[in-house]
Amino acid sequence: MIAVDGIAKTYQGHVRALDGVSLSVSEGEFTAVVGPSGSGKSTMLNMLGTLDRPDEGKVRIRGLDVDKLDDRALSALREQWIGFVFQSFHLSPRLTALDNVATGLLYSGRRRSDRRGLAAEALDRVGLADRKSHLPHELSGGQRQRVAIARAVVGRPPLLLADEPTGNLDSASGEGVVELLHDLNAAGTAVVVITHDPDLADRLPRQVRMRDGRIVADSAATSETAVE
Ligand code: ADP
Ligand code: ADP
Repeated sequence: MIAVDGIAKTYQGHVRALDGVSLSVSEGEFTAVVGPSGSGKSTMLNMLGTLDRPDEGKVRIRGLDVDKLDDRALSALREQWIGFVFQSFHLSPRLTALDNVATGLLYSGRRRSDRRGLAAEALDRVGLADRKSHLPHELSGGQRQRVAIARAVVGRPPLLLADEPTGNLDSASGEGVVELLHDLNAAGTAVVVITHDPDLADRLPRQVRMRDGRIVADSAATSETAVE
């Protein structure tokens, strides 16, 4: 459903964050991206999520060439098709859990009452039906991440991209978030998750390993062959 082909990205003229990466993610797949800090995982996820454009190479979403879309078309497509979750939650501190989730539908063209109704349903799905009026600081880390996940999936995108979603959580809350990702995947959402957590990565059907801006192994390739 989404593929990057030969993408490269250099920051500040010399930091080669990505150096020719090709990866294709199928509908409904659950993939872990692992590798040392600075190996290019976040940069690749940002490219998959069309948050950033590569210097070289192609990004395709369901056959559409992202290059050919202007920023406006791309934003619309992104909101419909891709949900994002980050390590540090990125919630608005002054908005209630419900309003934070509803911002995931801000550009959907739906009226406010519909956005709030769908946000309430999404909070139910992540087990936070009784926390709708809470502000982020009144919630635990695990609950905040559940709010962020509800916001990411409130529009029912086919793809969820998560950058270290358990990185700021204790192991019990992290486990809850991992279970939630499994539930969403079981319901049909493709998930790509960057993680340092072997408990999460080892359980997933596909692991992609990065080093120095390249993919050095992909368990979806025949029996963990190194990718050169
Ligand atoms: P990872 O997610 O594996 O830790 P990143 O994709 O965040 O790796 O970073 C890859 C390399 O690119 C690192 O050297 C990082 O410092 C650099 N980098 C990432 N984003 C930026 C940026 N916005 N500006 C400058 N350098 C960046
Ligand atoms: P989160 O915790 O929400 O995942 P981080 O605090 O890890 O976010 O920040 C990641 C962001 O910082 C990414 O967008 C990445 O591109 C950017 N980044 C990473 N390394 C650098 C760098 N050396 N210089 C500037 N920006 C960077």
